[in-house]
Amino acid sequence: MEFLIFMVLLYFLPTILAIVRHPTHDPFGIFLVNFFLGWTVIGWWVAFIWALAANGTSREFRRVPVSSGRFCSQCGALSPYGAHFCSACGRVV
Ligand SMILES: [Zn+2]
Repeated sequence: MEFLIFMVLLYFLPTILAIVRHPTHDPFGIFLVNFFLGWTVIGWWVAFIWALAANGTSREFRRVPVSSGRFCSQCGALSPYGAHFCSACGRVV
């Protein structure tokens, strides 16, 4: 009986790894490959390598506020859009 449990755990090792290593990452695809193709040794290895290779760092894009003004090359102060002279030092922007 213990051997059967051990074999089931070994069979689903890629899915378990995917869940444990990256809880936020969706391990459903790894589970599908593991479940349906795991009985072929190649499918098991594909799921295993996928579980190890999938890193949890999701590509996130940060929105940076784009200024509509101009920065002065002299003092670095931000002048409002349309201004021709720096509001801090008076230099042409
Ligand atoms: Zn300036």
